[in-house]
Amino acid sequence: MLKENLEYVESQIREACERSGRLREEVTLIAVSKTKPVSVLKEAYDLGVRVFGENKVQELADKYEELPKDIRWHMIGHLQRNKVKYIIDKVELIHSVDSLRLAETIEKEAAKHNITANILIEVNVAKEESKFGLMPEELDEFVSEVAKFPHIQVQGLMTIAPFVDDPEENRGIFQRLRKLSVDIAAKNVDNITMCILSMGMTNDYTVAVEEGAAMVRVGTGIFGARDYMNN
Ligand SMILES: *Cc1c(COP(=O)(O)O)cnc(C)c1O
Repeated sequence: MLKENLEYVESQIREACERSGRLREEVTLIAVSKTKPVSVLKEAYDLGVRVFGENKVQELADKYEELPKDIRWHMIGHLQRNKVKYIIDKVELIHSVDSLRLAETIEKEAAKHNITANILIEVNVAKEESKFGLMPEELDEFVSEVAKFPHIQVQGLMTIAPFVDDPEENRGIFQRLRKLSVDIAAKNVDNITMCILSMGMTNDYTVAVEEGAAMVRVGTGIFGARDYMNN
């Protein structure tokens, strides 16, 4: 099942790249393994998966301890400031930075470890009340402030698009995130690059790839439905 799912997602990404004149290497598939047991992640690992996404600090830290060290872990969920210290030296990228206070804490913890933290700025493109993320109009000021942190490297933007029946409905959201990143890149701010757009989930990742996603975050499409009863 896992093998077939991975092959299917892989073929969908490949085809979306072909349709939009992109190279497959331009897109990183993040296997979103939240709520799944270590045994299932190990199975995915044995099938070649090396990039995993988690949305809870404790779960990520636990899985980090139990699984091979060549896995690249991505923090994709809302991050509380008091928990940054548990993952700062374990993750390749934090996708969900949405406040200056959180960035300050990341700066402080990264400095302690003498590392540079790679982050994405989460943007609430659709302005949904229920979602985290900066509003698009808050981005400029945020960028100029976060640029002052020597232990933070901003790599791009992330968004969680609305849940819709037809993924085409989210195409405009992805286009807007891309436009925002182009506008920020044009300002040439220190410590800010806009190489990565993290957008697209199981329901809409092919549209996201067509619109320039560098990272797609696919959970259900790889691992099947999540069972929250055990969490
Ligand atoms: C759970 C989650 C995903 C994956 O969602 P699926 O619809 O299962 O692919 C992607 N991004 C974030 C931030 C998530 O929390």
